[in-house]
Amino acid sequence: MNNKPTIVAVEDENSILNILEMVCKSSGYQVYTAKSGSEALMMISSYCPDLILLDLGLPDMDGFKIIQSVRSWSSIPIIVVSARNHEKDKVSALDLGADDYLTKPFGTAELLARVRTALRHASGDGNKTKAYEGIFRVGDLTIDYDKRQVFKNGQNVHLTQNEYKIVALLSKHSGKVLTYDFLMKQIWGPNMGSDNRILRVNMANIRRKIETQPADPAYIFTEIGVGYRMAEEKG
Ligand code: CA
Repeated sequence: MNNKPTIVAVEDENSILNILEMVCKSSGYQVYTAKSGSEALMMISSYCPDLILLDLGLPDMDGFKIIQSVRSWSSIPIIVVSARNHEKDKVSALDLGADDYLTKPFGTAELLARVRTALRHASGDGNKTKAYEGIFRVGDLTIDYDKRQVFKNGQNVHLTQNEYKIVALLSKHSGKVLTYDFLMKQIWGPNMGSDNRILRVNMANIRRKIETQPADPAYIFTEIGVGYRMAEEKG
């Protein structure tokens, strides 16, 4: 079988590396392991894997350096798997170009779900012209990209231009957390400051319109201090 997706798992702690390797292998992925940053960079450039699982605290370099280095030449999906739980670290990793962030200790089901999401996004990215066409569906929520309309239980939801743009952007990356900074720049342009109050106000309005219980959202989740994540489309 040569068509198994390949994963490079980077982790200096043996027990965790073994878990990553075992879980991914049992799901049919081919896994290469690296225990240091230099080893990781070598493997990534020689194998060009379909996905990278990356620890941040490595003996010879910080994982941020690896994200930067890989992003200088490739868009291979990177999922950070780290014990660092600070919002600052998550935001930095995502803004440097990591695709997702998983905090240790992690559940294997969660890990595999994130891996599948990242691989799916990567394979879809080759088709950029189709970015906003067709229909997105999750639960009772439907987005018609051609009509630029959102429906809840079949009822048209009236969103402002910016509210629609936020919902559409999150839906295009469903399952993946988008940072406040990324969303602000995409919606309001590169010169927006770092104050994300306007985004939070828009999100409160969006939730009031699309969520049955805005305080306990089912469609757009808050990653506190980091950003927002849209629930995944169900086939
Ligand atoms: Ca480590």
